[in-house]
Amino acid sequence: MSEQTGSKLAGKCTTTYKILQSERVGRYMVANKELEAGEEIITEMPFVVGPKAATYPLCLSCYTPWPATDDKPLCSKCGWPVCSTECENQPQHKDYECQIFAQANEKFNVEAALQEANENGVPQLECITPLRLLLESEKNPDRWNNEVKDMEAHNKIRSQKEQWKSDQVNVVDYIKNRLKLERFSEEQIQTVCGILEVNAFEIRSLKGFPARALYPTTAMMNHSCVSNTCHSVSPIDYRIRLRTTLKIPPGGELYGSYVHSLLPTMLRREHLLAGKYFACACPRCSDPTELGTHMSSLKCSKCDNGVILSLDSLDPESSWKCTHCEFSTSGPAIRKVLSVVQAEVDAVEAISGADGADAIQARESVMKKYRSVLHPRHAFWTILRHSLTQMYGRVDEYLLDDLPDVVLEHKIDMCKSLLQVLDVIEPGCSRIRGMTLYELHAPLLFIAKTQWNAGVIDEAALKSKMIEASEILKEAIKILCMEPPETPEGQIGVVAKQSLVQLEQSINDL
Ligand SMILES: [Zn+2]
Ligand SMILES: [Zn+2]
Ligand SMILES: [Zn+2]
Ligand SMILES: [Zn+2]
Repeated sequence: MSEQTGSKLAGKCTTTYKILQSERVGRYMVANKELEAGEEIITEMPFVVGPKAATYPLCLSCYTPWPATDDKPLCSKCGWPVCSTECENQPQHKDYECQIFAQANEKFNVEAALQEANENGVPQLECITPLRLLLESEKNPDRWNNEVKDMEAHNKIRSQKEQWKSDQVNVVDYIKNRLKLERFSEEQIQTVCGILEVNAFEIRSLKGFPARALYPTTAMMNHSCVSNTCHSVSPIDYRIRLRTTLKIPPGGELYGSYVHSLLPTMLRREHLLAGKYFACACPRCSDPTELGTHMSSLKCSKCDNGVILSLDSLDPESSWKCTHCEFSTSGPAIRKVLSVVQAEVDAVEAISGADGADAIQARESVMKKYRSVLHPRHAFWTILRHSLTQMYGRVDEYLLDDLPDVVLEHKIDMCKSLLQVLDVIEPGCSRIRGMTLYELHAPLLFIAKTQWNAGVIDEAALKSKMIEASEILKEAIKILCMEPPETPEGQIGVVAKQSLVQLEQSINDL
């Protein structure tokens, strides 16, 4: 992400950060003073927002899957999918592609879209976000020239990839030939495709559906698989807010993460190489134990306590060896094991909590099935524990009031194992730590109360357990109240504050 030169943002300096450039690592962002954990560093509006690449049919304004009902509402002016008149009139559609489609008399092919819709998405929708970016470059030339035009597009590497060919057909040819926008050159169109592919952030709409947006300043930060910042995007106006998660000394580099932090090293590095075109060599990727979390480690089946680790975690071909016996295997063999387990994890992760008890049981059974293969703190367990800690207590038949003590204990254990890992890979005021702490406080309180009711503990013990839970709740509140109140996490922060008032009242009444 670092060969970018010439951007006018290099040299930019604010009260919280500055953007520096060096021969060796290219451009990077550092703290301009000592920053406290949770301090806001950047807030910026997107330069463009639009559908993700390879998308299913959706409303071009609110990104809700289309059609949501039996009638198939289309924009009255251009004939492309929207869900209502209100969505039809949103500026991001009305003032951009709508006018171009209407002029070129280019309609959305409903039948083809509904038939073709598969994992590669609807080809006709590929042009939307690049087109919006091109049109915005004309409407807002100052910001385009100063912040966007020189963003990394990796045209050289991309031109060797399949994606380039498909962009050529679905975006370049479509915009030039079908939409008759001759004024944009082939190179210009490929460059905006590249800028979006390399730099766009995934965001969520108000109804929770994914889209993508470009934030030029925030995108200047380098990547690390253990970041020291966290960003939130408002689902209302898509403004991004970037804040620290840890205390950072003056001159300390600020890092964001461009990849799902709960994945194991092999998979994180594959995503970064394929999507962002660089081989991550951060401290976490360089350490076969993943900083002692063992998120990539396997259990040895040939001896009792052995752990199988890569000899060189930056080389996917490297051998893996047991720490206790002579057993060794190859990187590609480990990759196969990961693929098999990942397919099952992905399948159960697709079952939402709304489906009730199945969602919990399916995840528990995958954990049981691979218990002897993966290290107890393996990344896949972390992913499943993360979902399970959110489901126990919320899913039908598993509401907190219904849970027997043994299940409450299970939820507490999972929250604690999850936090052990998060303290290392998502340290400080990260959103996921905030949510996990919140999930941990409730079962602690429930167990304390049932034990007191049953006469197992006395009032003093009850009080000390309630104080312990209130301390955990306070830390959760500190983190979640840093989130915009219109996001789900921000709302939990608000609810958590009310629970704390009640909890402190009950502690005082004892
Ligand atoms: Zn809509
Ligand atoms: Zn329209
Ligand atoms: Zn890394
Ligand atoms: Zn062994």
